[in-house]
Amino acid sequence: MTLACYGLGVAGTRPIAIGPAFLLDRSPLAVAPRSVNAAAVAGELQRLEDALAAAREALRVVRDQIPSSTPVKVAEFIDSHLLMLEDAALVDPARALIRERSFSAEWALEQHRMSLVKMFEDMEDPYLRSRRDDVDHVVQHILGFLLGGRSSDPESDADLRGCIIIAHDISPADTVILRQQQVAAFVTESGGPTSHTAILARSLNLPTVVGVHKVTSYFRPGETVVVDSEAGVVLADVDAEILAHYRERMRELEERRARLQHLVKKPSLSADGIPVSLLGNLELPEDTAATRANGAAGVGLYRTEFLYMNRDDLPDEEEHLAAYLEVVHGLEGVPVTIRTLDLGVDKQVDGSSATCPPACNPALGLRAIRLCLKEPDLFRPQLRAILRASAHGPVRLLIPMLSGIRELDSVLALIEQVSRELDHEGLAFDPRMPIGGMIEVPAAALWATAFARRLDFLSIGTNDLIQYTLAVDRIDDTVSHLHDPLHPAILRLIRMTIEAGRTRGIPVSMCGEMAGNPRYVSLLLGLGLREFSMQPDSLLEIKELVRSSHIARLERATEELFAHLDDQEPEQLAQAIERICS
Ligand code: PEP
Ligand code: MG
Repeated sequence: MTLACYGLGVAGTRPIAIGPAFLLDRSPLAVAPRSVNAAAVAGELQRLEDALAAAREALRVVRDQIPSSTPVKVAEFIDSHLLMLEDAALVDPARALIRERSFSAEWALEQHRMSLVKMFEDMEDPYLRSRRDDVDHVVQHILGFLLGGRSSDPESDADLRGCIIIAHDISPADTVILRQQQVAAFVTESGGPTSHTAILARSLNLPTVVGVHKVTSYFRPGETVVVDSEAGVVLADVDAEILAHYRERMRELEERRARLQHLVKKPSLSADGIPVSLLGNLELPEDTAATRANGAAGVGLYRTEFLYMNRDDLPDEEEHLAAYLEVVHGLEGVPVTIRTLDLGVDKQVDGSSATCPPACNPALGLRAIRLCLKEPDLFRPQLRAILRASAHGPVRLLIPMLSGIRELDSVLALIEQVSRELDHEGLAFDPRMPIGGMIEVPAAALWATAFARRLDFLSIGTNDLIQYTLAVDRIDDTVSHLHDPLHPAILRLIRMTIEAGRTRGIPVSMCGEMAGNPRYVSLLLGLGLREFSMQPDSLLEIKELVRSSHIARLERATEELFAHLDDQEPEQLAQAIERICS
């Protein structure tokens, strides 16, 4: 009988893998409680030091072997683990336990690991809570040497090509080696949407399902496993029919990818001749190549949070500028929309004094533009760098999380001030650089006309707009069933925003996940959206849909839908929406 396990899928362009299961022994090492006699204490201390040195050395070897094609995030994770291994706070308490309570080296380390893990688990912030895994990896790595030389090299003599790696968790160091061995997919027991395994899987573009409870005890080594990261499901013991279905789906996806290639150079025009701008969302400067390869007309959202991650200090103006110019030059003349810093919910800024009291709700707190206005020292170097980048190509500046007009006026005043400074210093910038605002808070959508009057463009962030309108936390999987982009309230807010732009004569784009989902394209075209920004991998699929759409017809159907929005039963309404979508 088919065995199915569910978790959180991290889907890339190749969402399905089929292959033999390889159970990576990354279960937590069992450590027995043990004390030693007084004469053996010095020896235990030495064992701990030796294991620490060996752990550092092994990780350095892994770090040095990272091929240049590996995403920079992977190296950053390993660097952060190396730093932890250098940090006295990681082992000093274990040394004390050996000296004062005569614990064996491994038991002392295990005791300290448990207290660190507890400390992280008690943290309110989901991102910091997920950093618990890092502590676990690093201490397990040292324990491996204490308990008999287990190294970071996962099963170096095994041939893992094409295997589905099933593990309790996978460390960043494992990830590098496993990728070199051309594994097909990852499935892990631990990890949520912000866990580092999920982050790395996204950047490595391997099908991954994380948070699959007890998966290591369900699957047998060598048996054929299907990983469907779109659905977040892992299957074993599948019959020939299911296997054939997935093989067929993989073939279709490959074929489809190849077939869509001819669209790269084709214009993005609807069947009735209306131009629709298709743009890319960038997470890292390295995504520029994929954006170009998929024929994007520009970048609708360049998220800049990566500049602040995995470090203790803040990026300076030159570092900002270099990251922006890499994209501006890489895209040769197409517009690049740089969004100012959006930190504060699941990621806090190291080096900033802003902290969230434990009981507060960070999604409603000092986030994004609110944080930037509170900490101008954090914000000014970024503003200066974005302005300076505008002297090198078409750059647009995008402000996240706006909720009020006074807030917007403060940002505009600050941009004005920074521009005057640059002028004074003789530094070049484009004084007409377009400035836009994200509409991702319901208040901003309801008041979009006022924002549109002051801004050059609007961009709808549906990820947050849905979270805030429906009161459904984006990172809480217990309420994800309530996440509904087709909720009439969401459609109404999108429509209001598009109309506000039209009335004021400014462009409105959408850069939330909804814009790159084929399911919503017809409805969004019918609502009047003409600029879609999405993960570069989705561009060609959306272009194909746009080119086969009759926008005038979709607009009529959508008008009709809105004319009866308030007097239809939910079931009828859902069917009417579905008719436009399909
Ligand atoms: C959004 O909220 O839709 C958006 C694009 O911003 P982010 O996902 O970075 O919050
Ligand atoms: Mg957002």
